[in-house]
Amino acid sequence: HYDVVIVGAGHAGAQAAISLRQLGFEGSVAMIGDEKDPPYERPPLSKEYFAGDKSFDRILIRPASFWPERKIDLLLGHRVKTVDAQANILTAGGEQIGYGKLIWATGGSPRMLTCNGADASNVHAVRRRDDVDGMMAKLDQIEHVTVIGGGYIGLEAAAVLTKLGKKVVVLEALDRVLARVAGEDLSRFYEAEHRAHGVDLRTGAKMDCIEVIDGKATAVLMQDGERIETDMVIVGIGIIPETGPLIAAGAAGGNGVDVDEYCRTSLPDIYAVGDCASHANRFARGAQIRLESVQNANDQAKTAVAHIMGKEDAYDAVPWFWSNQYDLKLQTVGLSIGHDHTILRGDPANRSFSVLYLKAGKVIALDCVNAVKDYVQGRAHVLSGALLDQVQLADPAIPLKEVGL
Ligand code: FAD
Repeated sequence: HYDVVIVGAGHAGAQAAISLRQLGFEGSVAMIGDEKDPPYERPPLSKEYFAGDKSFDRILIRPASFWPERKIDLLLGHRVKTVDAQANILTAGGEQIGYGKLIWATGGSPRMLTCNGADASNVHAVRRRDDVDGMMAKLDQIEHVTVIGGGYIGLEAAAVLTKLGKKVVVLEALDRVLARVAGEDLSRFYEAEHRAHGVDLRTGAKMDCIEVIDGKATAVLMQDGERIETDMVIVGIGIIPETGPLIAAGAAGGNGVDVDEYCRTSLPDIYAVGDCASHANRFARGAQIRLESVQNANDQAKTAVAHIMGKEDAYDAVPWFWSNQYDLKLQTVGLSIGHDHTILRGDPANRSFSVLYLKAGKVIALDCVNAVKDYVQGRAHVLSGALLDQVQLADPAIPLKEVGL
């Protein structure tokens, strides 16, 4: 029995454990994770770690010694299979473990293709260290890589592999990359950048299946009959939240586990945080959403822990995110969902610009490319929701913090 059990040793789980001790929680704490490693940062898996620029030690969230020093029991390599929310007991690794409070921080599993050939040995996701180590071990023998999905992870992987000298094809089924998360200006900019770096990036690309010979993918076959030869396939088409045991235990949810403003699920003593938690977000104008970001994982973990410690501090953090591709640093703040107008600030040709998203005249989000000042100063506008002069917003000579009504 532990006073608090955290399930999932990723970003949200690690932050929950760290916050418990920071806030002076003296009870027993265990963190159960199904990966073999102590908590590490996931974003570098498609960036510096994949590129070989950072070793694994450098992406650990805390040094391995941190956890025993703080009396946090790490039970690694174990998957939680069932939760009994009436008896406050879960099962993991064949054992029953009792809990006072449970923090569910299990993230999600990569959505995989369902077509023929999807299970070939050289078809990879990018979610865990093991996925990336598996790819890195083979890179020497590989020339052609096909990336399926033009979201952030697919594009980041494409950028790394291109820098490593591989010939990369990106297949995006929709008519532009980043369609789920960004406006058209940004999509078109990134498409052009990838093409300029030599990526064969295709939108509206409808694949049919994967050709497999001796267990290995040898080509991606398109619906129009084209055959794209490949030595490796990377699938970046989103995640499915890991909620099985909680939903089976009776938790409300659908796309993720539903939580309230304190990250409480509908089950007693059970909280959910991070990628798997579906919540009403003020910055999505109250819509029930899941956010897949380090910011959300950390801030929700802090909210849940504060509540366990008796402090009602509702989750209300402004979302932010980043993506690195080539020498381009994208930083986003706010959520553009539901915008009715965009303003382009600066010239994409200079490779430093921002896209501002407005709804009813108010700035609700910014995507800033190599434009740190806009990112930092724009945040206040997202928070204030003030009506601002749109001519000034579009003028990069006027710092965002000086833009008035
Ligand atoms: P995770 O970090 O995924 O941790 C969940 C852990 O729980 C995993 O180890 C999982 O294996 C484990 N688990 C699942 N089920 C069980 C179970 N039943 N029992 C035990 N353990 C279980 N975000 C950004 O903000 N910026 C970025 O640039 C960025 N880049 C990214 C690049 C990549 C390649 C990936 C994969 C993600 C990136 N993200 C980025 C997203 C960010 O990493 C996630 O939002 C964040 O990791 C979510 O934290 P989490 O704790 O909810 O889930």
